[in-house]
Amino acid sequence: MSYQIAVLKGDGIGPDVVDEALRVLDASGGPELTFSEYPSGANCFKQLGTPLPDDSVAACRQADAVLLGAMGLPDVRWPDGTEMRPQVDLRFLLDLYAGVRPIYLYHADHSPLKGYGVGEIDFVLLRENVEGLFASMNGGIQLRNETAVDSMVITRTGTQRIAKYAFELAQQRCAERADQSPGHVTCVDKANIFRSMAFFRQVFDDVAEGYSQINVSHVYVDAMAMYLVRQPEAYDVLVAENMFGDILSDLAAGLVGGLGMAPSADIGTDAAVFQPVHGTAPDIAGKGIANPVGTILSAAMMWRWLGHRHTDADALAAGERIEAAVRIVMAEKGATTPDLGGKMTTHELGSAIADACN
Ligand code: NAD
Repeated sequence: MSYQIAVLKGDGIGPDVVDEALRVLDASGGPELTFSEYPSGANCFKQLGTPLPDDSVAACRQADAVLLGAMGLPDVRWPDGTEMRPQVDLRFLLDLYAGVRPIYLYHADHSPLKGYGVGEIDFVLLRENVEGLFASMNGGIQLRNETAVDSMVITRTGTQRIAKYAFELAQQRCAERADQSPGHVTCVDKANIFRSMAFFRQVFDDVAEGYSQINVSHVYVDAMAMYLVRQPEAYDVLVAENMFGDILSDLAAGLVGGLGMAPSADIGTDAAVFQPVHGTAPDIAGKGIANPVGTILSAAMMWRWLGHRHTDADALAAGERIEAAVRIVMAEKGATTPDLGGKMTTHELGSAIADACN
């Protein structure tokens, strides 16, 4: 088995963290991978007049998977004042409806809750990726210079498929847990106020009826922001509308050491893009100190996705080797980049994880 991987490094720290993920993929000993790099991002816009050339999109469609760094720069904007965000456009173009964001605490010292009795944090935040408040992206209305409107769009089909993904994921996590304790899916919404959110909950509940072995709960998004800080150990799989998922995933990343530690996958029926949750971090770009762990763990997610999709045990094993290598390196006190209080460079941390794969 061999796989073609389209690589979009993007802007700012994107190329640095992707280079380390490529090094670790090479060291992980899985099936053969062929990497092809394509232009995209704010700098691509400056050079080619578009942040996402058609050829790059076509290559992403044809590839077995896409590995992406981060895109966008605060000073590169469209005339309406919004930023270039080709990574979000790609979600719509490839219909990558499931934003999968695992949140796992590798070392208690990484958490700002250290000293407050923080236990094991291990949950997945599932973000609906192509509707919700992002549905009106590029289509919001501005009336004269007085009023601007973006709309929340929730469809039955869109909610059904993300809810189904949540329950299937909870089943899979249950099967992989040593004690096989039952899965638990929490619907995060604002069903007390908005008709769109009440509908989201209703469709979620309809889907839940097909998964009687999985526990179900509902939490309003504002309360969830507090619960995640007070009892992050209580959650297994959370599912939320696009914007709520976007905001909560940064909060959740903060619980386990910050954006540098948070991987993600954008999954569709026919394609998948793997990228860290973080952006281009202009404040540290070019300094060689970005934390590459989120991108490296996204690469491990890519192996797992390829493994499940193609029933390829070698790909699954390579993903597990990367995760084990991250656990080994993170267990060492201070083996981190400066965002977590360490002194390692991006390259040193990437190399340590690559070495630990062997
Ligand atoms: P950001 O994620 O780039 O940075 C937020 C903070 O986290 C910064 O202090 C940064 O230094 C830190 N940080 C982020 N990643 C880190 C890492 N790997 N190691 C250490 N520290 C890290 O968010 P922002 O500042 O709001 O956005 C900057 C640019 O990135 C904007 O142009 C934004 O549109 C874009 N962006 C892109 C994506 C994406 O490509 N998926 C996501 C978010 C933001």
